[in-house]
Amino acid sequence: MKDKKLIKEAVLYSSVEPDSTQQKRFRDFIAAKYGPDIQLIWKKDGKYPNGFRLEVESDVYDWSIEGRFEQLKQMLKNSASDGSDSIPLMKENIRSWTPEALAREVGTVLTVGDGIATVGGLPNATYGEILIFDGGVRGMIQNLTETEAGCILFDDDGQISSGSKVVRTGKRAGIPVGEGFLGRVVNSLGVPIDKKGEIPASEYYPIERPAPAIIDRQPVNCPLKTGIMAIDSMFPIGRGQRELIIGDRQTGKSSIAIDTILNQKGKNVICIYVSIGQKSSSVAKFVRDLEEKGAMEYTIVLHASASDTAPMQYIAPYAGTSIGEYFMQQGKDVLIVYDDLTKHAVAYRSISLLLGRSPGREAYPGDVFYLHSRLLERSAHLSDEKGGGSMTALPIVETQAGDVSAYIPTNIISITDGQIFLESELFFAGQRPAVNVGLSVSRVGGDAQTKAMKSAAGTLRLELAQYREMKMFTQFASDLDDETKKQLAFGETLMHVLRQAQGESRQQYEQVIILTAVLAKTLTPVKLNDIRDFVGKMLDHFRKNHAAICDRIEKTGVLSPEDRSDIIEIASKFVSENAEIETEL
Ligand code: ATP
Ligand code: MG
Repeated sequence: MKDKKLIKEAVLYSSVEPDSTQQKRFRDFIAAKYGPDIQLIWKKDGKYPNGFRLEVESDVYDWSIEGRFEQLKQMLKNSASDGSDSIPLMKENIRSWTPEALAREVGTVLTVGDGIATVGGLPNATYGEILIFDGGVRGMIQNLTETEAGCILFDDDGQISSGSKVVRTGKRAGIPVGEGFLGRVVNSLGVPIDKKGEIPASEYYPIERPAPAIIDRQPVNCPLKTGIMAIDSMFPIGRGQRELIIGDRQTGKSSIAIDTILNQKGKNVICIYVSIGQKSSSVAKFVRDLEEKGAMEYTIVLHASASDTAPMQYIAPYAGTSIGEYFMQQGKDVLIVYDDLTKHAVAYRSISLLLGRSPGREAYPGDVFYLHSRLLERSAHLSDEKGGGSMTALPIVETQAGDVSAYIPTNIISITDGQIFLESELFFAGQRPAVNVGLSVSRVGGDAQTKAMKSAAGTLRLELAQYREMKMFTQFASDLDDETKKQLAFGETLMHVLRQAQGESRQQYEQVIILTAVLAKTLTPVKLNDIRDFVGKMLDHFRKNHAAICDRIEKTGVLSPEDRSDIIEIASKFVSENAEIETEL
């Protein structure tokens, strides 16, 4: 707070000395605002030929022509941005406009560097407020002490130096949102970076918004199909759920997210891909892929590249979430991918260290948990009264040598509703997607799984767990009994059936048919190396000759006992007729 007693003098600038009545008016104004005993000093300044400028500590009152024009400009800008018919409104505004003696708080830059500035002399500044520096550089307050404010900068800090002036805006950071963003690539401030022209904004949302309240939510009850069999069958994701994708580098984390986006085609889900700290070249390739497959129509890419400043990387996921909330509030379903939050935490760590905060575990600041919890809490399935929209989050986290107990992984595991753990060992062994069945879990998605999927996947997880255990026990054994060999072979078949190439998404009916057939052990005679091709051929056979079953499963989401026995019968017949059967001599 401003201590009125400490203020001793007020300085008045003008080109002509004020006469006695004017002087009295200024004295009265100062006495009313700041109390008596303040000395009024006049300084001649040719910059204000038509008015006055009064400075009391950091408050500046501008009665000059320029200052009044600035006020008028601001007011027109504010009134025009509410989207209403702006011309008549402007006329009305101009008619009723009287210039006010508005205080503008002006501070001074003390230090600047590494995208961070400390500013002195803004006693009323608030946390998260946007400041405008000389040359139009924008910054956001992240740290407040008694005498100075620490500020992160969104633009190049080369334009400002110590001593530069700073003004408050009284506004928080925001991002334009709207339908126009679909199919576009933007940066963390919503500015297009795909050279396709301006994006018309429907609204302007703050980047940090409170998460929906408990009563505004409803349980997850509708599946978000990834098209990846290992996930849809064992770790189903529901709309509104937050499912973490975690694994070492180069284990196919991004590929799972991208395949999920591709699989949303024609399913009425709007996808937002937030890339944080990645190479622009890999994001460009990703966008090209989406465009080729016609998936960019329903996708928005928000890109904060590795070369962007840490502040831009820090705000990227919040900005992306605000864009998603715009659609969620209209009752639409949104899928948002944060690729990845490890780099986000690192960006926040560098900001915090530069701001002089004390480092804690792994040199992250103490509030790093809050960094991600307030982000992921914004994903929800809204109640029907609130429109029934949803936002599903797929955050991605990179681990070092599979260590899930590091700081950031444990934090995010505890915030999310489950994780898909990808293992490099599996990946290099050719098991792709490299989902580790033992360490992955989905805590709420089971409720959203269709009945058909649930009954088809039945014992899959259990069988795979048994297979893993048995494989571990028998890996050094040379002589195995027939029963064990059979079980191992069955496990191998299951693992091979779950292999899927990139971009090869499987519809619900395809997954149900494959799982029903393989779990009934009909595919066991097929050679392991042939199994992928064979499954493809078998599905063709079903599509061609048994379309009714496929249709029924896809449309109703139910697998009737008759359909189940039909599938098993058709599959075993197809195997005996077509497979090159492996027989042991
Ligand atoms: P990074 O840690 O670099 O972000 P990542 O974990 O996101 O890597 P991706 O970039 O998705 O991994 O994939 C790594 C490589 O593995 C890519 O070359 C990709 O083409 C390949 N890959 C991913 N999934 C599969 C798959 N199902 N089948 C075959 N190849 C795959
Ligand atoms: Mg990746």
